Amino acid sequence: MMGKDAHAVKVRADRCTGCTRCMQSCPTEAIRVKEGLAIINAARCIDCSQCIESCPFDAHSIDSGSLEDIKNFKYTIVIPAITFAAQFSGGPKIDVLCSALRKLGFDLVFSEGLAVDYLKDRVREIVVNNQVKKPIISSHCPAVIRLIQTKYSSLIDHIMPTGSPVDIAANMARNLIKEKYGYSDSDIGVFYLSPCPARITNVVNPIGMQESAINVTIPIKDVYGDVLRILSGMKEPVSEFSNCMKPENLPWAEVGGQAKMSGVDNYIAVSGIHEVAKVFDQIEMGELDEVDFIEASSCTGGCVGGPLNIENPFVAQRNIRRLAENSSQGYFQMIDSVLAQFKHIYLTEEISPKQTNILDEDFTKAIEKMKQIEEITSRLRGLDCGSCGAPNCRALAEDIVQGKARMEDCVFYQEQQHLWRLEDESE
Ligand code: SF4
Ligand code: SF4
Repeated sequence: MMGKDAHAVKVRADRCTGCTRCMQSCPTEAIRVKEGLAIINAARCIDCSQCIESCPFDAHSIDSGSLEDIKNFKYTIVIPAITFAAQFSGGPKIDVLCSALRKLGFDLVFSEGLAVDYLKDRVREIVVNNQVKKPIISSHCPAVIRLIQTKYSSLIDHIMPTGSPVDIAANMARNLIKEKYGYSDSDIGVFYLSPCPARITNVVNPIGMQESAINVTIPIKDVYGDVLRILSGMKEPVSEFSNCMKPENLPWAEVGGQAKMSGVDNYIAVSGIHEVAKVFDQIEMGELDEVDFIEASSCTGGCVGGPLNIENPFVAQRNIRRLAENSSQGYFQMIDSVLAQFKHIYLTEEISPKQTNILDEDFTKAIEKMKQIEEITSRLRGLDCGSCGAPNCRALAEDIVQGKARMEDCVFYQEQQHLWRLEDESE
């Protein structure tokens, strides 16, 4: 998958029953159900995973890489998401966990947590020095940024201009290995163990950067079983490369972790994409002008709630706290000297609005279509029942005007037509 509309979430036609639950849960009205099958409009999808979470038939798949891809590179680096360490309730130490990842075939384990050191000071500086319009919205969650692009374009100026820890870490790791071993970019494969489809999409269809420094993304749940098997036979770390996770930075993945670790007091931490949308409505209405920082996560509970994790998010939060308190603080010292010069932590490309609801390029025709939508909406029942295959009556009216649906798709309209026909016949 590549290109500006590439997304990781796909519908499995063999499992989808057309029940419409995903359509009702999608925050951007990206889904329609046609002939018993859910169809995702890629231009509107923000990779929030609501459709995955709401589906009772497990009818979604994730377009991702696998461990097989390791053989395509001369040197491989794996970046486990900050939430990775929190998946193991048995309490393996961070360095043992990193060794287990190396045994999967990777040459180096490099954590997002290393980038947090650099990021948290910049976040504080930007907030304290009012460098961005307030309230400043964290750039950490790609699904939230895509929500802003799709539905809240007036908030684009509020986005924190720094990259997310994983993108910073990927660049750091590449630089480190190029400098130390002289490999070229194409020799090095950077793998990311992801808690969510949003981060997988962000590699092939990046926001705020020209291209991602990551080559392959693998869902955390896809490697979990292999790591668990390796851990069962391992008690101590196996090499000097083993302790690269900076456990004290793991709380970044919790709700409120970014604000707390950056030393920002006047903040709102909101999680769950529908709750995030409510907070964004309030920002647009000017109700939150006094707030400095909004830490918004698409997943309930923050990244520990990502659908590609294994562990219950509440248990994972407790695991993070325990690891942060008890793990050894040391890590691969060579990293420090290279990273001390590392400066690339800002987004390099402008974030622009996504025009997903343009009715027509021609202004006059667009106005005409708007009137038609109003007129058709007023003729529909307004029950937003979803049985037509659109999430609400207005969306159906829009689809009708755009030639993608018919009045007859509405069951109530069909019923009315039928009654009128019977009346005509009886006269
Ligand atoms: S991932 Fe989110 S935005 Fe995309 S189709 Fe599913 S619910 Fe809609
Ligand atoms: S909250 Fe975290 S895990 Fe969930 S979509 Fe955003 S970045 Fe991914």
